[in-house]
Amino acid sequence: MADEFILETSGLTKEFAGFFAVRDVALKVRRGHIHALIGPNGAGKTTCFNLLTKFLKPSAGQIRYKGQDITSMAPADVARLGLVRSFQISAVFPHLTALENVRVALQRQHGSSFDFWRSKNVLDRFNPRAHELLNDVGLSEFANTPAVEMPYGRKRALEIATTLALDPEMMLLDEPMAGMGHEDIDKIAALIKRISAKYTILMVEHNLSVVANLSDIITVLTRGQVLAEGNYADLSKDERVKEAYLGA
Ligand code: ADP
Repeated sequence: MADEFILETSGLTKEFAGFFAVRDVALKVRRGHIHALIGPNGAGKTTCFNLLTKFLKPSAGQIRYKGQDITSMAPADVARLGLVRSFQISAVFPHLTALENVRVALQRQHGSSFDFWRSKNVLDRFNPRAHELLNDVGLSEFANTPAVEMPYGRKRALEIATTLALDPEMMLLDEPMAGMGHEDIDKIAALIKRISAKYTILMVEHNLSVVANLSDIITVLTRGQVLAEGNYADLSKDERVKEAYLGA
């Protein structure tokens, strides 16, 4: 089936002054899957992620999203097609409430002028959807809390809500569990699982128990290349994968 894979790369390569951070990577992300990209430090995960989100330009290769070649497309145009990277917390406005943050994201997506962001029309138009999105990520009780006063894990959930406001079909999550304690990890894992019913997800994640619990499929990178691909049970028995992690 032509659209079985929502995102595909072929020959994806990034060279920094003669050093191949990513080399000839063929990645296929199946629609509806949670797909994890893992590998020891220096394996090329971040570089790969930055190529997919268009923050870096590949030295060679192709990226196709929904059958369309997006290799040379600008990040904003890619986002408009529904392939969206989750924002970093720094993109959340600290002094706006959770509700206002999501509403501003919705306004941006729908081209509504930023200057009038508190007008009655705007509130009537965007508040219902903003509340819905906060509810989807389990943040209803924080609707009127300024982002700056929210606990770290909840802020990450808010970051995901502002990403969902962009109406994605596929989300790219960069270490969604970074810097979190157990409780927050469990909550964000449950959230990712929940939203994966609607969206395809590709994530880079260091926490292997999270990867084991969440992923439908895992691609292991080492030295910029794909070493192995499969589910966690298979990969954890793979000698090459064990060696790559031990040798790191
Ligand atoms: P990972 O995210 O898996 O830890 P990275 O993608 O950050 O790996 O890095 C892969 C390799 O590419 C590393 O050896 C790193 O030093 C190198 N690298 C990454 N970015 C650059 C850059 N801008 N210039 C030169 N080398 C880089």
